[in-house]
Amino acid sequence: MAEQNVSIPNVPLNLRIQQLERLLEVSRTLSSLLELEPLLQMIIDAASDLTYSQESSILLYDDLEGDLKFEAAPWFKSSQMQELRVPIEGSIAGEVFTYGEPVVVRDAVADGRIFRAVDEHTGFETHSLLSVPLKVEEVCFGVLTAVNKYGGHFTSEDQYILETLASQAAVAIQNAKSLIEIQKAYEELADLDQMKTDFIAITSHELRTPLGLILGHATFLQDALGDDQREQMAVIIESALRLKEIIEDLSKVDNYRTGAAVLNWETVDLGVLVRRVSAGLMRLAEDYRVRIEFQLPGRPLVISADGEKLGLALSHIIRNGIMYNNPGGQVTISVEKAAGFAQFRVVDDGIGIPQEEQEKVFERFYQVENHMVRRRGGMGLGLSVAQLMVEMHQGRILLESEPGVGSTFTVLIPLDGEQDLSE
Ligand code: ADP
Repeated sequence: MAEQNVSIPNVPLNLRIQQLERLLEVSRTLSSLLELEPLLQMIIDAASDLTYSQESSILLYDDLEGDLKFEAAPWFKSSQMQELRVPIEGSIAGEVFTYGEPVVVRDAVADGRIFRAVDEHTGFETHSLLSVPLKVEEVCFGVLTAVNKYGGHFTSEDQYILETLASQAAVAIQNAKSLIEIQKAYEELADLDQMKTDFIAITSHELRTPLGLILGHATFLQDALGDDQREQMAVIIESALRLKEIIEDLSKVDNYRTGAAVLNWETVDLGVLVRRVSAGLMRLAEDYRVRIEFQLPGRPLVISADGEKLGLALSHIIRNGIMYNNPGGQVTISVEKAAGFAQFRVVDDGIGIPQEEQEKVFERFYQVENHMVRRRGGMGLGLSVAQLMVEMHQGRILLESEPGVGSTFTVLIPLDGEQDLSE
């Protein structure tokens, strides 16, 4: 508890103004220092200056060990002292920490509450001290102490100044600590993301070879089999081709992220591209009992693009229009060339996507339905691959959707003079 009868200050006015100016300057600097170590050093320097003390120190509560640990002190640089700890019971700092109130000790040699091990270890002699709590929103997390007042005793003025400094310092320390935590969490996330990327790269690479063998042998066997088994083999080949598509998607995402993906420019007729892509999805549309409608231009619309990558983007969007639909539903695919753009539009009257999910569906592995309760297949990669392919053409995908009504995906590919090859 605070020792009573603190001497009444008799500080000359100009000295007091100087002190307050210094406090103000320190407060301003405190909020701009984001690294913990220089911040703590600055606080103890200011504490010694402002109270005319020989030294100052900061102890912070360690909730794992349940004691106070020196985080800044004059002898701190000699590393073996860094682990020096002060117990909560049987120390002035522990008392300040427990009650959240300042303590002034005029004669440390005679005071039984002093934890003497610190002086014994450091060779420092404590004669007097002033300890104040470091707290934010009434929660105390450490103690700031000024030791050995020059030319007299610690006054109530010193106490006021040190408490004011401590209240500013406490917020700055908490901010710096939060920043460290955030940086740590960010680094952990970046590590996890790297692990995921490595996993994708390795898995897709390793799966490709055995799958190629399965497909090769199954195709060979299909020709050699009788009619009955041929149908079974067709199912095996179809499933293997689906697996191949998934692996291709995985490596497409990886190639794009590592910068290995390049565009192979060629002449592409947009109407032909849409027909080709849709043809590969007719069987799926039949299975889902979804009708596909086309609104294609009467004459060729030709641009320069990477037909395979653009086709892949369209294929994923159309596939979704079919799969996230209801039996009897419809998917309408239109193509047109507006000023400066080639525009593909895929409209479905399926289940729709809630507003708050519409940005997220383009993220890798994101699926609106929880993975465990999903009725449809997929890995949550289709739209992210589609977006990557479109972005490689400097284009973008727009989404409008309403749950229960349907979704419209619009792909816009900008055309400069050279890419627009139509008459
Ligand atoms: P996948 O279809 O493999 O799960 P996508 O990246 O293609 O992955 O799509 C992400 C999610 O967005 C899907 O899981 C689905 O929840 C939602 N989604 C995509 N397209 C549609 C659509 N046309 N209608 C309704 N929901 C859709």
